[in-house]
Amino acid sequence: MEHFITFIIGACLASFIITMTQRHLLQIGPLTTRSLCDHCKHPLAWWQLVPLVGFTIQGGRCHWCRQRIDPWSSGCELICGTWLTLYSPSDLIEWLACLVVLSSLLTMATTDWYACWINPLTLIGLIPLPMIVLVPFSFTNLWAYLLVTCLLLLVALFSHGIGQGDVEWLVLVLVLCGWRCYWQTVLIGCGLAFTSPKLWRHQRLPFLPYLSLGLLVSIII
Ligand SMILES: [Zn+2]
Repeated sequence: MEHFITFIIGACLASFIITMTQRHLLQIGPLTTRSLCDHCKHPLAWWQLVPLVGFTIQGGRCHWCRQRIDPWSSGCELICGTWLTLYSPSDLIEWLACLVVLSSLLTMATTDWYACWINPLTLIGLIPLPMIVLVPFSFTNLWAYLLVTCLLLLVALFSHGIGQGDVEWLVLVLVLCGWRCYWQTVLIGCGLAFTSPKLWRHQRLPFLPYLSLGLLVSIII
């Protein structure tokens, strides 16, 4: 039961942060309180707004116009709920740190995904990272350093450069989380980025969603 509640909190947080980011930072969708379908602009019923449940009941297609619903929000809700359940914060400090870090990652990943930019202010939300990363700082893995450097160069080469925000993000993760968490993040992030067709078509790749997922995985392994 406790795990279930933790999952719901993670999923609801993702749903809320993504809606707010889309409306206020990206200016996608209405500024009113009612949410509308992206295609037919029909106001959404309450059950369509329930994180994950609404998407699943509708089979990924709008109840009224049958157009495909953008899966970004539901994907993030699933990842956030699952991650928070696996991490299961033990006290109030850990809970607050997790919620702040998740909100910051969700905001940056969403603006990067849709518009290829991040708001530098949202980087501040990464500051509680040391409270939830348990691995101590160490510079011993030379092979990992070389591998990470090669992978970053490859991604930069294929996707026409790594964006400014990505570099700041990576430096912050290195400073706040330590070397081991950093190279795991880059390793997993690059691995995921290589699955994106955009990389192979030499288009600008939203790299932060992949790196954020890499960071979340590296915190719990
Ligand atoms: Zn519709």
